[in-house]
Amino acid sequence: MAEFIHPLRRSVMRGLQGHCPSCGKGPLFWKYLKVNGRCEACDHDLARYPADDGPAYLTILLVGHLVVAPLLIFPIIWRSNPVYSLPLILIPLAVFTLLLLPRIKGGWIGLMYSLGVRDTDQRLHTADAAD
Ligand SMILES: [Zn+2]
Repeated sequence: MAEFIHPLRRSVMRGLQGHCPSCGKGPLFWKYLKVNGRCEACDHDLARYPADDGPAYLTILLVGHLVVAPLLIFPIIWRSNPVYSLPLILIPLAVFTLLLLPRIKGGWIGLMYSLGVRDTDQRLHTADAAD
């Protein structure tokens, strides 16, 4: 008997793994952050899910709170010579952030898929409503 997985969790997990949130088989991206227009496996329209700045904001939020803030607790960060410590900290931090960003974007698109949010939903574009 197959284990029941909530549809929201399933589609977010598929997106986090870089797969189509609908079928879980086709690749979600054709380049680093470029979403495929249609799924190669199930022909689902993947381009209609808005991502905008959400994944970048969430990635910064996670990295800032889970990596940068705890890192500042260690006294060696404050006592070491910045000429050596900054590259040793910033380069791995940048690599980690760049590795995390496509996964967060995939999870975000999986969430949009599960919630039924489309890029044509005018109520999402609050900047347009200010006109
Ligand atoms: Zn698919």
